Amino acid sequence: MPASEFDLIDRYFKRDAPANMLGVGDDCALFAPPPGMQLAASTDLLLEGRHFLSDMDPCALGHKALAVNLSDLAAMGAQPLGCLLGLALPAARAGQPNWLAGFARGFWAQADAHGCPLLGGDTTRSDTAVSISVTVFGALPAGQALRRDAARPGDDVWVSGRTLGAADMALAILQGRCTDNSACLALLRPALERPEPQVALGVALRGIAHACIDISDGLLQDLGHILAASACGARLYEADLPVAPPLANWPLEQRRPAVLGGGDVYQLCFTAPAHARQRVLQAGEEVGTEVSRIGLITAEPGLSVLDAQGQRLPFLPRGFDHFGDDHAA
Ligand code: ADP
Ligand code: MG
Repeated sequence: MPASEFDLIDRYFKRDAPANMLGVGDDCALFAPPPGMQLAASTDLLLEGRHFLSDMDPCALGHKALAVNLSDLAAMGAQPLGCLLGLALPAARAGQPNWLAGFARGFWAQADAHGCPLLGGDTTRSDTAVSISVTVFGALPAGQALRRDAARPGDDVWVSGRTLGAADMALAILQGRCTDNSACLALLRPALERPEPQVALGVALRGIAHACIDISDGLLQDLGHILAASACGARLYEADLPVAPPLANWPLEQRRPAVLGGGDVYQLCFTAPAHARQRVLQAGEEVGTEVSRIGLITAEPGLSVLDAQGQRLPFLPRGFDHFGDDHAA
């Protein structure tokens, strides 16, 4: 067990900061966005038992703690600059070097992969569960952020990746809510535990996409935030949704709630004008991420989903009720 809080920080979280920054070791970190760039900042809190299961692999947990924050930067089109880590640990965890080393390894691997050095934080004892708070900072040219309020009627709606439904089904299997497809767990689990934030895609979409959001609470719910902020509606085509491959052959009724409503996706949902289709596809190709056109932004409010036969789904997954005017009609 490390002798003290300071040993723990030194051992697992202190590394030399990039040359133009002051990192772990003083009262504040010091860094600045490149000239002409705006700062983007975001915080996410992860609580044991609520956001992750207690027996989650610590390396995957370290990865996910930073990945979900990087996903917020991606959704704005921001390039990561650095991050801060707040950690509350029960004594039992602080005394498990393997757990801490695994967590730090997963965290640093994400930090290195996306150029987002850990520059500071806070460490304290918790009487109950592990709690992890990560703050990320990014930079983007002033005025070029991909904001939620920028969708326009006539825009296409796009989704990155091919992982819709995967994390939600993995969680359902791990929690014993879905046993008949448990053989798929090995295929689905990485989507839940090691999401890949679409940082490069977000940056590539600056100047091309209009509105953008990362899917953390479910496709419909998160697209709903864009619609509310932009005061418009959308029509989606179920047959065009990029469903995670292990789910593609499942009965529609079984996979539909996970695909439309399942959270923890960490792909980007964005809108872009129809004349930018080619540029969107190119941006996806440049960064090696699939992008799928899944629908259309409409001037009329409300969100509808058409099935493969062109029939409107009469019932949409839970969590979507506050946009209910339209589908209640
Ligand atoms: P203070 O008392 O000013 O809050 P601390 O003693 O808590 O400072 O932290 C000492 C240094 O270690 C600071 O630079 C702080 O940013 C850093 N630090 C503390 N906890 C973490 C952590 N979990 N990850 C990264 N840096 C940390
Ligand atoms: Mg402190």
